[in-house]
Amino acid sequence: MINVVIFGAPGSGKGTQSNFMKEHYKLVHISTGDVLRDHIARKTELGEVAKSFIDKGQLIPDELMISILGDVIDSHKDKAQNGFIFDGFPRTIAQAQALEGLLADRDMKLNCVVGLDVPDEVLIERLVNRGKESGRSDDNLETIKDRIAVYYKVTSPLKDYYCERNLFHSVKGWGDIDKITASVWAVIDNSL
Ligand code: ATP
Ligand code: MG
Repeated sequence: MINVVIFGAPGSGKGTQSNFMKEHYKLVHISTGDVLRDHIARKTELGEVAKSFIDKGQLIPDELMISILGDVIDSHKDKAQNGFIFDGFPRTIAQAQALEGLLADRDMKLNCVVGLDVPDEVLIERLVNRGKESGRSDDNLETIKDRIAVYYKVTSPLKDYYCERNLFHSVKGWGDIDKITASVWAVIDNSL
């Protein structure tokens, strides 16, 4: 079993690389952003709460996000013999600590954290372009800047957290997409 966290700023390509990874390694892809947007589309109670944070570029409160993640893991467990990709989670130290517990409770552990390293100018350009087609309420310049600021303030400290645990590996996340994919897979292959 391989359990991977794909890590990086908004627009760093976590979703794109997750799609390649899930095919190649036959993993179940859990994107917390997709889970939340699905709730918003279905107009659930959780979706309404989530929308109020997402539209401001803020994070959903840890306690709520952590309880959602446990349920999502359990709902996919029967298809996840080969393991999971966690995309968009953890985003805070509290979430990282919770993930350790959620996995341990299920006799699983994290193999590695792959960080996609992308300069801010590239992130902004990608997200502004995506916003033109995605219709995502948070892909507008003002909210993009807020999301990047939140990333540096509360999410990027996770690099040190995972470095201390010898799990963090950074790869260049811009330029030739095939090269990025090859670097991501090399990290995973080395963690097996
Ligand atoms: P990309 O997937 O292109 O890198 P992104 O990381 O900004 O972009 P998502 O992961 O889809 O986008 O997340 C969108 C929003 O959903 C976040 O800005 C946040 O409000 C909320 N969200 C997603 N995951 C979490 C989480 N783990 N904790 C708190 N909020 C979250
Ligand atoms: Mg995404």
